Amino acid sequence: MTIHSHEVEASNFIKNIIEEDLKTGKHQVIITRFPPEPNGYLHIGHAKSICLNFGLAKEFDGICNLRFDDTNPEKETDEYVQSIKESIKWLGFNWDGEVKYASDYFDKLYEFAEFFIKQSLAYVCDLNADEMREYRGSLVTKGKDSPYRKRSVEENLNLFKQMREGEFADGAKTLRLKIDMASSNINLRDPVIYRIKRAHHIRTGDKWCIYPMYDYTHCISDALENITHSCCTLEFADHRPLYDWVIAHLVKANLLTSHPRQIEFSRLELQYTITSKRKLNQLVTDNLVSGWDDPRMPTISGMRRRGYNKEGVQLFAKRCGISKSPNIVDVSLLEASVREELENKAPRIMAVLNPLKVVLTNFDEYTASRSAGFHPQHAQLGERLVELTREIYIERDDFMLDPISGWQRLTANSEVRLRHSYVIKCDELIKDATGNIVELRCSIDKNTLGKNPEGRKVKGVIHWVSVTNAIEAQVRLYDRLFTEAEPDRVNGKDFKEFINPHSLTIVKGYIEPVIISSNAEDCYQFERLGYFVADRCDHDSSSNKYVFNKTVGLKDTWKK
Ligand code: ATP
Ligand code: MG
Repeated sequence: MTIHSHEVEASNFIKNIIEEDLKTGKHQVIITRFPPEPNGYLHIGHAKSICLNFGLAKEFDGICNLRFDDTNPEKETDEYVQSIKESIKWLGFNWDGEVKYASDYFDKLYEFAEFFIKQSLAYVCDLNADEMREYRGSLVTKGKDSPYRKRSVEENLNLFKQMREGEFADGAKTLRLKIDMASSNINLRDPVIYRIKRAHHIRTGDKWCIYPMYDYTHCISDALENITHSCCTLEFADHRPLYDWVIAHLVKANLLTSHPRQIEFSRLELQYTITSKRKLNQLVTDNLVSGWDDPRMPTISGMRRRGYNKEGVQLFAKRCGISKSPNIVDVSLLEASVREELENKAPRIMAVLNPLKVVLTNFDEYTASRSAGFHPQHAQLGERLVELTREIYIERDDFMLDPISGWQRLTANSEVRLRHSYVIKCDELIKDATGNIVELRCSIDKNTLGKNPEGRKVKGVIHWVSVTNAIEAQVRLYDRLFTEAEPDRVNGKDFKEFINPHSLTIVKGYIEPVIISSNAEDCYQFERLGYFVADRCDHDSSSNKYVFNKTVGLKDTWKK
C-alpha cells in the first residue's frame, strides 16, 4: 500500500477504543508505555510507536511510561539505553516519572513464577532446544507433553530454586508454563518462561543466572505499571492469549490488580531501507555505514543528523496512520513531510556545489550589491548583504554550450540574472588545453539591479557565490542506502548485497559567508539545490570546519 501525503489521518481505531473506555468509565486515566529493548538505536518504525504511545497519552491527558525491556542481557548495553532516551526526547516526548526497566521486576517475576509452580501451572523441563522443538509440534500437528510435565510441585520448586542458584549449566533446564500442548495456538504449548543464562546484565550485574522470557515479562510489567492500553505490533496478536492467560491467573489470585488490554497495529516499514535493529546493527558492525547515526540510516539519530526535524518525522508518523493493514511506505512520504516542515523555517542562501568560475569584466567600484531577505515569505528571518565581487562561481550545470530548446540559463552570448543581483551576459569562454571550459567572461548590465532590463526580457535566474567571500565547505550528498525496495525480502539473498555503492558522495561546496557563524544542526535551503544541515558531529565553525549534509531535495526526485 502506498500512502499519499494528502491522506492525513483524522482518527484511528485505538483512539476509538480509548474514547469508549473513558466514556464508559472503564478507565479514568489512560496509561500507555513505550517498551524498547536496549539492543540497538531506535529507527523510524519506533518513531511511529513513540508518536502513537506518547501521543495518545498527551491527547487524552494520560501517562506514558518508558520501560526498557531488558531481558536479553547479552545484546543490551548502556549506550543503547542512553541513545534511546535521547531519541525520544529529541522527538519531543517525555516519559512519566523515572525510566522503568523490566529488570526492576525480576524479583516479582520470580515470585510469580513460584506462584505458577505452586498452582501446578508451571514445571521445570529438561528437554533441550531441539527436543523441545520436536515436542512442540507444528501448525498442523499437535504437540506432545514433555516427559517432565508431571513433576511434583515440590520437585519443581526445588529445581527452580537450584536453577536460580546456578546449580545447572546454561540451557540445561527451563521453566515452562503448563497450558496445553494440543492448543491450536503454538504460543500456548507450554511456553518457556525462564531460561538459564550466565550473562552479565547492564543493571542487575551477576545477580541472576536465570532470565525471564519476553512474553512472560512483558504482560506482568504492563500490569504492575497499571498500563491500560498496551499497543504493540501485529506479530504479537498470536501472543495475546498468552498475555491474557498469565495476567488473568495473577489477577484471580489477587497478585495483580489490573489487566491491561493488548492492542495490535501494523508495523511501519519503509521502502529502500531496513527496519530491524538486528539488521541495522550488522550495517554498523560490518562498517557499511559510519555508525548508528550515519545520515543514511533510518535510525532516529541518523535522521536527526541528516537534518530531518522532529516536526517532519511526527507529521510523517501521523500520515502513516494506525491500522492493521500492511504499512510499507514510500520514502517520498517521509521526505515530503520533512520538506514541508523545513519550507517555512530554513533561511534561504546560495551555495555552489559544482563550480564554474565567472569573471565579471566590467565590475568596478560603482558596482553595487543588494541586501536580500532570508525568506521571501518570512521577513522576520532577517536579511543579509549579498556581496557581488569581480569573480564569482556559478553552477557548472547552469551553463550549456549547445543549449537544449527552452534553455533559460546561461549560454554563449546570452543573458541571465544573478539571483539578488544584476543581469549578466556571457561574452567569452576560456578553455583549457583539452578543450574544457574553465572560465566564463561576462559583462554586467549595470542598469538591472532590482529592475528589469530595458527593451528585452531575461527569464532565467541562477544562483552564485563570490569567489573571494564564499566559505569552502564539505558537502555530503546522499542517495538511498539500498538499491532494492525491500532489500530483506529477496529470496536467497542477504540484504547487505543490495547496498547502494553511490549512497554517499562528498563534494567541495562554496557557500555564502553567512554560514561563518553557523552552529551544528542549523539548517538552510541552498537555493535551487535543496535543504542542508550543518553536521552535528563534524561541523565546527569556530575552527573553520564547515560540513553540511543534504537533508532532502526541493522536489521529489524519487519518482521514476
Ligand atoms: P527491532 O526488530 O527493530 O528490534 P522490535 O519490535 O524488536 O524491533 P523493540 O525495541 O522491542 O523492537 O520495540 C519497541 C516498541 O516499538 C514495540 O512496542 C514495538 O512494537 C515497536 N516497534 C518496533 N518496530 C516497529 C515498527 N517497524 N513499526 C511500528 N512499531 C514498531
Ligand atoms: Mg523486540
